[in-house]
Amino acid sequence: VDFRFAEDVEDFRAEVRAFLGEVMAGAPEHMDPTDLTGLDEGFERAVHRRAALRGWFNLPADRRYVFECEAARAAAPLVDTAVVLAGHAVSAFGSDHLRAWLLPLMLAGEVELCIAYSEEDAGSDLTGIGCRATRTGPASWALRGRKAMVTGAHKADWCLTVARTGEGPGRSDLTMFLVDMHDPAVRVERRPTMNGWTLDDIAFDGVEVPDAHVLGGVGAGWRQMASAVAAERSGASWIGFAHQVMDLIVDYVRQSPDRQDPVVRDLVARCAVEVADVDRLSRRALWTAAGVGSNPSEADPVYPAMVKVAVTELLQHLAQAATEIAGLAGLVWASPFDPEPPPSGGAGGRFAWEYLERVHGTISVGANEVQRDAIARIGLGLPRRGA
Ligand SMILES: Cc1cc2nc3c(=O)[nH]c(=O)nc-3n(C[C@H](O)[C@H](O)[C@H](O)COP(=O)(O)OP(=O)(O)OC[C@H]3O[C@@H](n4cnc5c(N)ncnc54)[C@H](O)[C@@H]3O)c2cc1C
Repeated sequence: VDFRFAEDVEDFRAEVRAFLGEVMAGAPEHMDPTDLTGLDEGFERAVHRRAALRGWFNLPADRRYVFECEAARAAAPLVDTAVVLAGHAVSAFGSDHLRAWLLPLMLAGEVELCIAYSEEDAGSDLTGIGCRATRTGPASWALRGRKAMVTGAHKADWCLTVARTGEGPGRSDLTMFLVDMHDPAVRVERRPTMNGWTLDDIAFDGVEVPDAHVLGGVGAGWRQMASAVAAERSGASWIGFAHQVMDLIVDYVRQSPDRQDPVVRDLVARCAVEVADVDRLSRRALWTAAGVGSNPSEADPVYPAMVKVAVTELLQHLAQAATEIAGLAGLVWASPFDPEPPPSGGAGGRFAWEYLERVHGTISVGANEVQRDAIARIGLGLPRRGA
């Protein structure tokens, strides 16, 4: 199978790169290292609107992949858009009313959204969700409880969340809601991460939610959540990050006195092989999932799990290699969004930042251990653990 994108898709990539080059030229005046994007909210919203105007929030699978990859490679604040996070859930499970007003706003880049499933006692295993929704009238609910480690809640207009609507345990009686983040009964607390930006806790203090903002069936939240998480990210943004770090490593070595060192050259070449490998695996996942290319085959549910494991571990290997190559300079930390990075740091302190940043990828969005279990069971036909 030929895993090259068609010529028109590569032309699209060039168009996206030119756009991102122009847009990101304005980024230095909008740095905000306390946000995961590294950029302030006003800048992020403006970039969303400009990309949306070009129709780039509503792309076919191959172009969407290329767009997400290039956006991440350029460190543009276009990775966790409302469409990426919640597009699938809103279009698959939202009522006609919800779809009619929210989808156009999402596609126009006019709203910020966050997704809040995790809680202090419910991470990889979401059966522990304790947040509760109770009836306050024939067509309304009140939500109470806390969500934890939410990306971008402090700037979100709406929150897609899941709460318990009955007494059933585990996977039963979970329901998906859309909550207005501007409601006074919603409080957001920003908590610092080890890399200088924040994740958010959300407290729902009896916030009222109308029936019209229930997504899908009451009690059907578990199945819906699984399908929303699977659709959330194609892995393309991680591939974009990997290419970006690889570019930084090669630039660093090119300018370093160690560029003739056979051990350094060997390590860089190994990194290049790994990046190419995972890039191919991820395209293979895309080809089978979306029928891209001249030889489409059946969607294979194991590929997305394989890509998730491979790319998040690749990012850790790259960060490890970068800090080793830079030696002592690899220990000097600075945010890539710091307007004045320390001159003594490897890639301006970026390598040390990268080392810390890539820890969470193997834990979040489905821990790699859980993904490997799925690969063993579905891909290799091994019995379930304990069976
Ligand atoms: C940067 C970042 C952004 C996030 N954004 C969001 C967000 O926007 N919305 C949201 O709802 N949540 C978000 N989260 C939370 C994320 O979904 C959870 O971190 C994730 O589900 C893991 O849960 P946990 O942190 O409680 O770790 P745990 O589930 O407690 O895992 C701890 C360790 O145990 C391992 N482990 C877990 N289960 C198994 C198993 N079955 N077999 C073997 N090992 C296992 C894990 O790999 C990990 O090493 C975010 C997290 C991070 C780090």
